[in-house]
Amino acid sequence: METGNRNEKNGNAIENTGIQRADIKSLTLKELRQAVTELGEKPFRAEQLFSWMHEKLADGFDEMTNLSKGFRETLKQEYEYVSLELVEVQTSKTDGTRKFLFRLSDGLVIESVLMRYKYGNSVCISSQAGCRMGCRFCASTIGGLERSLRPSEMLEQVYQITRLLGERVSHVVVMGTGEPLDNYDNLVRFLGLLTCKGGLHLSQRNITVSTCGIVPGIRALAEEGLAVTLALSLHAATQEKRCELMPIARRYGLLEVLEACRYYFQKTGRRISFEYSLVAGFNDTGEDAKLLAELAGDLKCHVNLIPVNPVRERAFVQPEQKNIGNFKNKLENYGINVTIRREMGRDIDGACGQLRKSYMEGRNQC
Ligand code: SAH
Repeated sequence: METGNRNEKNGNAIENTGIQRADIKSLTLKELRQAVTELGEKPFRAEQLFSWMHEKLADGFDEMTNLSKGFRETLKQEYEYVSLELVEVQTSKTDGTRKFLFRLSDGLVIESVLMRYKYGNSVCISSQAGCRMGCRFCASTIGGLERSLRPSEMLEQVYQITRLLGERVSHVVVMGTGEPLDNYDNLVRFLGLLTCKGGLHLSQRNITVSTCGIVPGIRALAEEGLAVTLALSLHAATQEKRCELMPIARRYGLLEVLEACRYYFQKTGRRISFEYSLVAGFNDTGEDAKLLAELAGDLKCHVNLIPVNPVRERAFVQPEQKNIGNFKNKLENYGINVTIRREMGRDIDGACGQLRKSYMEGRNQC
């Protein structure tokens, strides 16, 4: 049985997923060499296999024409070749943002988002099907956690979108459904595979991992020697207010989370980004801006303001446009580096987890 602690930091989904068959796309090159040798093949076959899966983004073993037919048959018997079935794509008419709904091999659905910026294509991926963190304003958590995603299932979101788009994806944000640090081992493996030389070789600096503030996970990630950006979903500048929005804040208090962020910055040299969902009449006053500026200034953080996305089941309301602008100006006057997150794809079930949710409720079923 897993201890609470292990579950929390690692949430090892190979165990949690309940899927038994070996998942070849989640193996590192080193593990693949071992696996290939055990099947009686030369180790260099592992490089070929790895390149087919992670660089050429093959749809299945049959495409791997430089491997013998016999070997491909053995691979089919021994391993699951994880892929995602595309269920639906919605394209925003206003900014070209695309939302993808994918079905996993056990029938669960997840969503991913493609955002097209001047600097490149950015994909926002889900790390879990559902979420158990319970943040009050978030649609992803309403049905609870179904299961954590395997590394291959996180990778495939990027791979499928790359295939469909026919263009390189340069940036990945782990900001879709789920809490990445509640699926720690799989997240780290995913990051390794996504950035390694024989795969898509994304720059670590172009990857952002967003967390609601699981302290042991933040500290562990700081030790991994990765240069990925950490985004902390702060949303309120006092412990009391944060607790009202985020149950996790009761477990890991604000001071403890900020200390973990400081540690992350010291270890990696990467500036933290604070995510702050602006809710009218709750966290958008001058006093809120002042307190937020103090926290952000102290840690040299960047602040990303997200006007709260209305979710049907929740009563949170966005501040008016001019109040959002005022809040930003106040932070800037305190010397804080701040951006307002472009509300991409609002016309297509924009808020986190809403497309998946409406699909599961049957609204979008044919
Ligand atoms: N679990 C991670 C990542 C997923 S959520 C985390 O908490 O950071 C990605 C970001 O969107 C988080 O900052 C989250 O708090 C925010 N978010 C979720 N629902 C939202 C909504 N309805 N309006 C605005 N931001 C929301």
